[in-house]
Amino acid sequence: MENWELVIIGAGAAGLAAGIYGARSGLKTLVIDEKLAGGTAADAPMVENYPGFPQVTGGELAQNMVVHCKKAGAAINEIETVTALDLDGEKKIVKTTRAEYEAKAVIIATGSHYRQIGVKGEKEFQGRGVSYCGVCDGPFFKGKRVLVIGGGNSAVTTTLYLSGIAAEVVVTHRRDAFRAEDALVKDIASKENVKVFWNTEVREIKGEKFVNKVVVYHNKAGETREIAVDAVFVQIGEAPNSQLAREAGLEVDEHGYIKTDVFQLTSAAGVYAAGDVTSHPVKQVGTAVGQGITAALEAYSYVRRPYYRR
Ligand code: NAP
Repeated sequence: MENWELVIIGAGAAGLAAGIYGARSGLKTLVIDEKLAGGTAADAPMVENYPGFPQVTGGELAQNMVVHCKKAGAAINEIETVTALDLDGEKKIVKTTRAEYEAKAVIIATGSHYRQIGVKGEKEFQGRGVSYCGVCDGPFFKGKRVLVIGGGNSAVTTTLYLSGIAAEVVVTHRRDAFRAEDALVKDIASKENVKVFWNTEVREIKGEKFVNKVVVYHNKAGETREIAVDAVFVQIGEAPNSQLAREAGLEVDEHGYIKTDVFQLTSAAGVYAAGDVTSHPVKQVGTAVGQGITAALEAYSYVRRPYYRR
């Protein structure tokens, strides 16, 4: 059993910010991630709204955070999956595929995962034309015709990124307007190789070895037709990675997001949550960082009980 003062689960923007503040406060801090450190922000083609960085790739921003966190003195264990949490007592137990850790405080920053559209062909063609990450898979479709599903910021930023790679980007959105930032929507309108099909729902993804078409339904005209495409990028939002927290008995909201107070404290003493896994209404890199910082400073107060917080 290894002893730590603070164990942070998840090395995305929230977890890394918490790691920086935890370690710099003087807490013996461990950050654990089942994948490589960086989180989903690393998948963002371009980030243009993180203060101080007018334009930076998600990969570069995430990598800077990883380096910063290590430099601050936190340990980061990558490719290590947390399998169970015991958060009830004063000593918190974090079990992983590699070890068992005892911690005085825990921050859960496990983020979210891409939502699936749930149509026929989606699962079958995953990795063979169906993707959830433009940065990861976009370059495979240079000069091809690709489709993006969704109408939020993710769909629009992915479309902009793909428009620089693919010959044509088709966007299908089930409504008649985007719910994305105005600046991004204007950028889309200026791209000659982007075509938006409004009020259009993808009903099936078809292909042979790889995706070659989708069946779409126009929900105003009531018409169904096929569109030939080489890839489908599903960009319809995210759902929380809160299973561990739920199994450990933490309170979650009706959609499964972890409930916290303004200090990021969950329903268990000494246990905090930050970033996209929480029910905070705004899911941005900047808000995740802010929540991670709050959680780490509160964890510090909980563990060390400094004179000014007694
Ligand atoms: P989102 O804002 O929740 O948008 C999801 C989109 O997918 C909506 O347009 C929704 O349509 C559509 N959708 C949901 N379920 C669908 C289904 N089953 N079939 C078809 N369409 C479906 O999600 P997001 O775009 O991933 O953004 C998540 C959060 O990250 C947001 O807070 C966003 O602002 C943030 N983000 C920010 C940036 C940035 O550069 N600022 C970039 C990426 C993400 P309806 O509109 O009809 O519900």
